[in-house]
Amino acid sequence: MATGVSTRCLLTLSKRGFSSKADKNVAFLGLGNMGGYMAANLVKKGFNVRGYDPSKDALTAAAKNGISGANSIAAAVDGVDVVVSILPSNKVVLDAYLGKDGVVKHATKGALLIDSSTVDPNVPKQIFPVATENGVNFIDAPVSGGVMGAQNATLAFMAGGRKDDFTRSLPMLQAMGAKHFHCGEVGSGQVAKLTNNMLMGITGMATAECMNMGIKMGLDPQVLLDVLNNSSARSWSTEVYCPVPGLVPTAPSSRNYDGGFKNELMVKDLELASGMALGIRSPIPLGAVATQLYRIVQSRGYGQKDFSFVFQLLKEEAEKK
Ligand code: NAD
Repeated sequence: MATGVSTRCLLTLSKRGFSSKADKNVAFLGLGNMGGYMAANLVKKGFNVRGYDPSKDALTAAAKNGISGANSIAAAVDGVDVVVSILPSNKVVLDAYLGKDGVVKHATKGALLIDSSTVDPNVPKQIFPVATENGVNFIDAPVSGGVMGAQNATLAFMAGGRKDDFTRSLPMLQAMGAKHFHCGEVGSGQVAKLTNNMLMGITGMATAECMNMGIKMGLDPQVLLDVLNNSSARSWSTEVYCPVPGLVPTAPSSRNYDGGFKNELMVKDLELASGMALGIRSPIPLGAVATQLYRIVQSRGYGQKDFSFVFQLLKEEAEKK
Protein backbone atom coordinates (compact mmCIF):
# COMPACT_ATOMS: atom_id res chain seq x y z
CA MET A 1 0.00 0.00 0.00
CA ALA A 2 2.72 2.46 1.07
CA THR A 3 4.70 1.60 -2.06
CA GLY A 4 1.61 2.24 -4.19
CA VAL A 5 1.12 5.70 -2.71
CA SER A 6 4.75 6.71 -3.15
CA THR A 7 4.79 5.36 -6.73
CA ARG A 8 1.70 7.42 -7.49
CA CYS A 9 3.39 10.52 -5.98
CA LEU A 10 6.54 9.96 -8.00
CA LEU A 11 4.49 9.54 -11.15
CA THR A 12 2.65 12.79 -10.47
CA LEU A 13 5.90 14.57 -9.81
CA SER A 14 7.66 13.27 -12.89
CA LYS A 15 4.65 14.05 -15.11
CA ARG A 16 4.83 17.62 -13.81
CA GLY A 17 8.59 17.63 -14.36
CA PHE A 18 9.33 18.37 -10.70
CA SER A 19 13.03 18.14 -9.88
CA SER A 20 13.75 16.14 -6.75
CA LYS A 21 17.42 17.10 -6.43
CA ALA A 22 18.47 20.46 -5.02
CA ASP A 23 18.51 23.18 -7.65
CA LYS A 24 22.02 24.61 -7.95
CA ASN A 25 22.52 25.88 -11.50
CA VAL A 26 20.67 29.06 -12.38
CA ALA A 27 20.40 31.10 -15.57
CA PHE A 28 19.68 34.78 -14.94
CA LEU A 29 18.19 36.94 -17.72
CA GLY A 30 18.29 40.73 -17.38
CA LEU A 31 21.23 42.04 -15.37
CA GLY A 32 20.03 45.65 -15.03
CA ASN A 33 19.42 47.79 -11.94
CA MET A 34 17.46 45.02 -10.21
CA GLY A 35 18.79 41.85 -11.84
CA GLY A 36 22.47 42.72 -11.36
CA TYR A 37 22.08 42.69 -7.57
CA MET A 38 19.63 39.78 -7.49
CA ALA A 39 21.99 37.55 -9.50
CA ALA A 40 24.90 38.59 -7.25
CA ASN A 41 22.87 37.56 -4.18
CA LEU A 42 22.24 34.12 -5.69
CA VAL A 43 26.02 33.71 -6.12
CA LYS A 44 26.56 34.76 -2.49
CA LYS A 45 24.19 31.96 -1.40
CA GLY A 46 26.14 29.34 -3.32
CA PHE A 47 24.23 29.05 -6.62
CA ASN A 48 26.13 28.76 -9.89
CA VAL A 49 24.80 31.62 -11.99
CA ARG A 50 25.11 32.05 -15.74
CA GLY A 51 23.78 35.40 -16.95
CA TYR A 52 22.53 36.85 -20.21
CA ASP A 53 21.90 40.50 -21.04
CA PRO A 54 22.23 42.17 -24.47
CA SER A 55 24.16 44.97 -22.74
CA LYS A 56 27.90 44.23 -22.64
CA ASP A 57 28.31 46.66 -19.74
CA ALA A 58 25.76 44.72 -17.69
CA LEU A 59 27.60 41.44 -18.39
CA THR A 60 30.97 42.98 -17.45
CA ALA A 61 29.58 44.34 -14.18
CA ALA A 62 27.96 40.97 -13.40
CA ALA A 63 31.22 39.08 -14.05
CA LYS A 64 32.79 41.02 -11.14
CA ASN A 65 30.15 39.42 -8.89
CA GLY A 66 30.89 35.87 -10.02
CA ILE A 67 28.25 35.55 -12.75
CA SER A 68 29.51 33.81 -15.87
CA GLY A 69 28.33 35.34 -19.14
CA ALA A 70 26.42 33.74 -22.02
CA ASN A 71 25.95 35.26 -25.47
CA SER A 72 22.31 34.24 -25.98
CA ILE A 73 19.25 33.16 -24.04
CA ALA A 74 19.59 29.63 -25.46
CA ALA A 75 23.21 29.39 -24.26
CA ALA A 76 22.31 30.79 -20.82
CA VAL A 77 19.48 28.35 -20.12
CA ASP A 78 21.19 25.27 -21.56
CA GLY A 79 21.26 22.53 -18.89
CA VAL A 80 20.32 24.69 -15.87
CA ASP A 81 17.84 23.71 -13.15
CA VAL A 82 16.25 27.13 -12.81
CA VAL A 83 15.83 30.27 -14.92
CA VAL A 84 15.21 33.65 -13.23
CA SER A 85 14.39 36.73 -15.30
CA ILE A 86 13.72 40.38 -14.55
CA LEU A 87 13.12 42.25 -17.81
CA PRO A 88 11.72 45.63 -18.84
CA SER A 89 8.39 45.07 -20.63
CA ASN A 90 5.57 42.74 -21.77
CA LYS A 91 7.09 42.40 -25.24
CA VAL A 92 10.62 41.65 -24.02
CA VAL A 93 9.31 38.98 -21.61
CA LEU A 94 7.10 37.31 -24.23
CA ASP A 95 9.95 37.29 -26.79
CA ALA A 96 12.45 36.00 -24.24
CA TYR A 97 10.19 33.11 -23.18
CA LEU A 98 8.19 32.20 -26.28
CA GLY A 99 10.46 33.40 -29.14
CA LYS A 100 12.09 30.81 -31.37
CA ASP A 101 15.42 31.23 -29.55
CA GLY A 102 13.65 31.64 -26.25
CA VAL A 103 13.65 30.05 -22.81
CA VAL A 104 10.75 27.62 -23.21
CA LYS A 105 12.22 26.05 -26.33
CA HIS A 106 15.75 25.68 -24.92
CA ALA A 107 15.25 24.99 -21.21
CA THR A 108 15.91 21.48 -19.91
CA LYS A 109 12.81 19.36 -19.25
CA GLY A 110 11.79 19.71 -15.61
CA ALA A 111 13.46 23.12 -15.19
CA LEU A 112 11.70 25.80 -13.13
CA LEU A 113 11.22 29.21 -14.78
CA ILE A 114 10.68 32.25 -12.51
CA ASP A 115 9.80 35.58 -14.08
CA SER A 116 10.18 38.55 -11.71
CA SER A 117 9.50 41.31 -14.25
CA THR A 118 6.50 43.61 -13.72
CA VAL A 119 4.13 42.88 -16.61
CA ASP A 120 0.47 42.50 -17.52
CA PRO A 121 -0.99 39.40 -15.77
CA ASN A 122 -1.89 38.07 -19.23
CA VAL A 123 1.82 37.68 -20.03
CA PRO A 124 2.46 34.88 -17.47
CA LYS A 125 -0.93 33.40 -18.40
CA GLN A 126 0.28 33.10 -22.01
CA ILE A 127 3.65 31.62 -21.05
CA PHE A 128 2.39 29.05 -18.54
CA PRO A 129 0.50 26.67 -20.90
CA VAL A 130 3.29 26.69 -23.49
CA ALA A 131 5.86 26.00 -20.76
CA THR A 132 3.75 23.13 -19.41
CA GLU A 133 3.36 21.65 -22.90
CA ASN A 134 7.15 21.73 -23.25
CA GLY A 135 7.74 19.95 -19.93
CA VAL A 136 9.00 22.97 -17.98
CA ASN A 137 7.45 24.69 -14.95
CA PHE A 138 6.66 28.39 -14.72
CA ILE A 139 5.71 30.94 -12.04
CA ASP A 140 5.41 34.72 -12.06
CA ALA A 141 7.15 36.28 -9.07
CA PRO A 142 7.32 40.09 -9.34
CA VAL A 143 9.06 42.05 -6.61
CA SER A 144 8.62 45.09 -4.41
CA GLY A 145 11.41 46.89 -2.58
CA GLY A 146 13.29 48.67 -5.35
CA VAL A 147 16.98 48.69 -6.13
CA MET A 148 17.91 48.95 -2.42
CA GLY A 149 15.82 45.86 -1.71
CA ALA A 150 17.51 44.05 -4.58
CA GLN A 151 20.96 45.04 -3.27
CA ASN A 152 20.25 44.08 0.35
CA ALA A 153 18.25 40.93 -0.50
CA THR A 154 15.21 42.36 1.31
CA LEU A 155 12.79 42.23 -1.63
CA ALA A 156 9.19 41.07 -1.19
CA PHE A 157 8.23 38.44 -3.77
CA MET A 158 4.59 37.88 -4.72
CA ALA A 159 4.21 34.73 -6.72
CA GLY A 160 1.53 33.19 -8.91
CA GLY A 161 1.53 29.59 -10.06
CA ARG A 162 1.28 26.03 -8.80
CA LYS A 163 1.94 25.65 -5.08
CA ASP A 164 4.68 23.03 -5.52
CA ASP A 165 6.48 25.21 -8.08
CA PHE A 166 6.33 28.07 -5.55
CA THR A 167 7.71 25.78 -2.84
CA ARG A 168 10.50 24.72 -5.17
CA SER A 169 11.33 28.38 -5.93
CA LEU A 170 11.78 29.30 -2.25
CA PRO A 171 15.54 28.63 -1.90
CA MET A 172 16.18 31.02 -4.81
CA LEU A 173 13.61 33.60 -3.67
CA GLN A 174 15.00 33.48 -0.13
CA ALA A 175 18.50 34.19 -1.46
CA MET A 176 17.17 37.37 -3.10
CA GLY A 177 14.45 38.59 -0.74
CA ALA A 178 13.06 38.66 2.78
CA LYS A 179 9.32 38.10 2.21
CA HIS A 180 7.62 35.58 -0.05
CA PHE A 181 3.91 35.28 -0.79
CA HIS A 182 2.04 32.69 -2.81
CA CYS A 183 -0.89 34.73 -4.17
CA GLY A 184 -2.71 32.02 -6.16
CA GLU A 185 -2.71 30.73 -9.71
CA VAL A 186 -0.34 31.92 -12.42
CA GLY A 187 -0.65 35.69 -13.05
CA SER A 188 -1.84 36.46 -9.51
CA GLY A 189 1.63 37.66 -8.46
CA GLN A 190 1.32 40.38 -11.09
CA VAL A 191 -2.21 41.25 -9.91
CA ALA A 192 -0.89 41.73 -6.34
CA LYS A 193 2.09 43.77 -7.54
CA LEU A 194 0.02 46.11 -9.75
CA THR A 195 -2.59 46.54 -7.02
CA ASN A 196 0.11 47.49 -4.51
CA ASN A 197 1.74 49.96 -6.87
CA MET A 198 -1.51 51.66 -7.88
CA LEU A 199 -2.31 52.18 -4.19
CA MET A 200 1.25 53.45 -3.57
CA GLY A 201 0.88 55.88 -6.51
CA ILE A 202 -2.48 57.16 -5.25
CA THR A 203 -1.28 57.61 -1.64
CA GLY A 204 1.91 59.31 -2.86
CA MET A 205 -0.09 61.75 -4.98
CA ALA A 206 -2.58 62.41 -2.17
CA THR A 207 0.21 63.05 0.35
CA ALA A 208 1.96 65.48 -2.02
CA GLU A 209 -1.30 67.32 -2.76
CA CYS A 210 -2.40 67.70 0.86
CA MET A 211 1.02 68.58 2.28
CA ASN A 212 1.42 71.23 -0.41
CA MET A 213 -1.95 72.71 0.57
CA GLY A 214 -1.15 72.76 4.32
CA ILE A 215 2.27 74.32 3.77
CA LYS A 216 0.85 76.91 1.37
CA MET A 217 -1.66 77.82 4.13
CA GLY A 218 1.31 78.67 6.34
CA LEU A 219 1.85 75.53 8.44
CA ASP A 220 5.38 74.60 9.38
CA PRO A 221 6.15 71.51 7.20
CA GLN A 222 7.62 69.54 10.14
CA VAL A 223 4.66 70.32 12.40
CA LEU A 224 2.27 69.29 9.63
CA LEU A 225 4.12 66.01 9.08
CA ASP A 226 4.16 65.29 12.83
CA VAL A 227 0.39 65.88 12.96
CA LEU A 228 -0.27 63.58 9.98
CA ASN A 229 1.97 60.84 11.36
CA ASN A 230 0.02 60.89 14.62
CA SER A 231 -3.43 61.19 13.07
CA SER A 232 -5.77 59.26 10.80
CA ALA A 233 -4.00 60.25 7.53
CA ARG A 234 -0.80 58.41 8.49
CA SER A 235 0.58 56.11 5.75
CA TRP A 236 3.83 54.72 4.31
CA SER A 237 3.98 57.92 2.23
CA THR A 238 3.91 60.20 5.28
CA GLU A 239 6.09 58.02 7.53
CA VAL A 240 8.78 56.68 5.20
CA TYR A 241 8.45 58.42 1.87
CA CYS A 242 7.50 62.01 2.64
CA PRO A 243 7.54 63.96 -0.67
CA VAL A 244 8.59 67.25 1.00
CA PRO A 245 12.41 67.55 1.03
CA GLY A 246 14.30 67.62 4.30
CA LEU A 247 11.68 66.11 6.63
CA VAL A 248 12.51 62.38 6.36
CA PRO A 249 16.29 62.17 5.80
CA THR A 250 16.15 58.71 4.16
CA ALA A 251 13.33 59.58 1.70
CA PRO A 252 14.32 60.23 -1.96
CA SER A 253 12.88 63.78 -1.64
CA SER A 254 15.75 64.57 0.76
CA ARG A 255 18.36 63.66 -1.89
CA ASN A 256 16.97 65.65 -4.80
CA TYR A 257 14.49 62.83 -5.63
CA ASP A 258 17.33 60.60 -6.87
CA GLY A 259 17.86 56.90 -6.13
CA GLY A 260 14.22 55.99 -5.47
CA PHE A 261 11.44 54.44 -7.56
CA LYS A 262 11.63 56.28 -10.87
CA ASN A 263 8.56 58.24 -11.98
CA GLU A 264 8.75 56.50 -15.37
CA LEU A 265 8.45 53.08 -13.65
CA MET A 266 5.44 54.36 -11.68
CA VAL A 267 3.82 55.42 -14.98
CA LYS A 268 4.57 51.97 -16.44
CA ASP A 269 2.98 50.17 -13.46
CA LEU A 270 -0.06 52.48 -13.36
CA GLU A 271 -0.66 51.95 -17.08
CA LEU A 272 -0.45 48.18 -16.59
CA ALA A 273 -2.81 48.37 -13.59
CA SER A 274 -5.21 50.59 -15.56
CA GLY A 275 -5.24 48.06 -18.42
CA MET A 276 -5.98 45.29 -15.93
CA ALA A 277 -8.84 47.31 -14.38
CA LEU A 278 -10.31 48.17 -17.79
CA GLY A 279 -10.33 44.49 -18.74
CA ILE A 280 -12.66 43.68 -15.83
CA ARG A 281 -14.46 47.06 -15.77
CA SER A 282 -13.31 47.75 -12.20
CA PRO A 283 -13.71 51.50 -11.56
CA ILE A 284 -10.38 53.25 -10.85
CA PRO A 285 -11.21 56.99 -10.65
CA LEU A 286 -8.23 57.75 -8.40
CA GLY A 287 -5.90 55.39 -10.27
CA ALA A 288 -6.78 57.15 -13.53
CA VAL A 289 -6.00 60.59 -12.09
CA ALA A 290 -2.73 59.30 -10.60
CA THR A 291 -1.72 57.82 -13.96
CA GLN A 292 -2.29 61.14 -15.71
CA LEU A 293 -0.52 63.19 -13.04
CA TYR A 294 2.65 61.05 -13.04
CA ARG A 295 2.55 61.03 -16.84
CA ILE A 296 2.58 64.84 -16.81
CA VAL A 297 5.63 64.74 -14.51
CA GLN A 298 7.29 62.45 -17.06
CA SER A 299 6.36 64.65 -20.03
CA ARG A 300 7.92 67.61 -18.23
CA GLY A 301 11.23 65.72 -18.30
CA TYR A 302 11.33 64.30 -14.75
CA GLY A 303 10.79 60.61 -15.56
CA GLN A 304 14.15 59.68 -14.01
CA LYS A 305 13.31 61.31 -10.68
CA ASP A 306 11.58 59.44 -7.86
CA PHE A 307 7.78 59.48 -8.22
CA SER A 308 7.44 61.67 -5.10
CA PHE A 309 8.75 64.50 -7.35
CA VAL A 310 5.04 65.11 -8.08
CA PHE A 311 5.14 67.35 -4.97
CA GLN A 312 7.40 69.79 -6.86
CA LEU A 313 4.95 69.97 -9.75
CA LEU A 314 2.07 70.82 -7.39
CA LYS A 315 4.24 73.31 -5.49
CA GLU A 316 5.13 75.03 -8.76
CA GLU A 317 1.43 75.31 -9.62
CA ALA A 318 0.70 76.72 -6.15
CA GLU A 319 3.39 79.37 -6.63
CA LYS A 320 1.89 80.64 -9.89
CA LYS A 321 0.10 83.97 -9.48
P1 NAD B 1 16.75 47.90 -16.18
O1 NAD B 1 16.37 48.60 -17.45
O2 NAD B 1 17.78 48.50 -15.30
O3 NAD B 1 17.20 46.39 -16.50
C1 NAD B 1 16.61 45.58 -17.48
C2 NAD B 1 17.74 44.79 -18.14
O4 NAD B 1 17.18 43.84 -19.03
C3 NAD B 1 18.69 45.68 -18.95
O5 NAD B 1 20.02 45.47 -18.52
C4 NAD B 1 18.49 45.19 -20.38
O6 NAD B 1 19.66 45.26 -21.19
C5 NAD B 1 18.06 43.75 -20.13
N1 NAD B 1 17.39 43.10 -21.26
C6 NAD B 1 16.62 43.65 -22.22
N2 NAD B 1 16.20 42.70 -23.08
C7 NAD B 1 16.72 41.51 -22.64
C8 NAD B 1 16.65 40.15 -23.08
N3 NAD B 1 15.94 39.82 -24.16
N4 NAD B 1 17.29 39.20 -22.39
C9 NAD B 1 18.01 39.52 -21.29
N5 NAD B 1 18.12 40.78 -20.81
C10 NAD B 1 17.48 41.76 -21.48
O7 NAD B 1 15.37 47.72 -15.39
P2 NAD B 1 15.17 47.36 -13.84
O8 NAD B 1 15.00 48.61 -13.05
O9 NAD B 1 16.19 46.34 -13.42
O10 NAD B 1 13.70 46.71 -13.90
C11 NAD B 1 13.49 45.41 -14.42
C12 NAD B 1 12.06 44.97 -14.12
O11 NAD B 1 11.84 45.02 -12.71
C13 NAD B 1 10.97 45.84 -14.76
O12 NAD B 1 9.91 45.03 -15.17
C14 NAD B 1 10.56 46.78 -13.62
O13 NAD B 1 9.23 47.25 -13.78
C15 NAD B 1 10.69 45.82 -12.43
N6 NAD B 1 10.93 46.50 -11.13
C16 NAD B 1 11.84 47.49 -11.03
C17 NAD B 1 12.03 48.12 -9.80
C18 NAD B 1 13.04 49.23 -9.64
O14 NAD B 1 13.01 49.93 -8.61
N7 NAD B 1 13.95 49.44 -10.57
C19 NAD B 1 11.30 47.70 -8.67
C20 NAD B 1 10.39 46.64 -8.80
C21 NAD B 1 10.22 46.05 -10.05
